[in-house]
Amino acid sequence: MAKAKVKANPYQAFEDALRAKQRELIESYQRDKAAGNASPDDGIQDLADKAASAYSKELNFSLSDGERTLLMQIEEAFNRIREGTFGTCSNCGNLIGEKRLAAVPWTPFCIDCQELQEKGMLS
Ligand SMILES: [Zn+2]
Repeated sequence: MAKAKVKANPYQAFEDALRAKQRELIESYQRDKAAGNASPDDGIQDLADKAASAYSKELNFSLSDGERTLLMQIEEAFNRIREGTFGTCSNCGNLIGEKRLAAVPWTPFCIDCQELQEKGMLS
């Protein structure tokens, strides 16, 4: 067993959690679609990759508002990881708590701004 573990990416755990959640959402979408009238040439395998970069209109259309919002937040979280701004509130710029990030890694807001947003006080 290797004892010296190199932590190249400090966001790895969050990335893994985001990817797992993204996959979960997309898979539930695929199940819904399969239950309906799925055509065989949809390229389901790379749907996750497609969703990771750009959403197809169909995917957006078929998901519920909540799922769609969540997928967008996940996508934005990946962008923030790439830009190095992950873990910083999009509204006030404060650091988002570690526990909060562990629970909801896709959140763009710190807890205070989240409350404002839920009250409709953020644009
Ligand atoms: Zn904030």
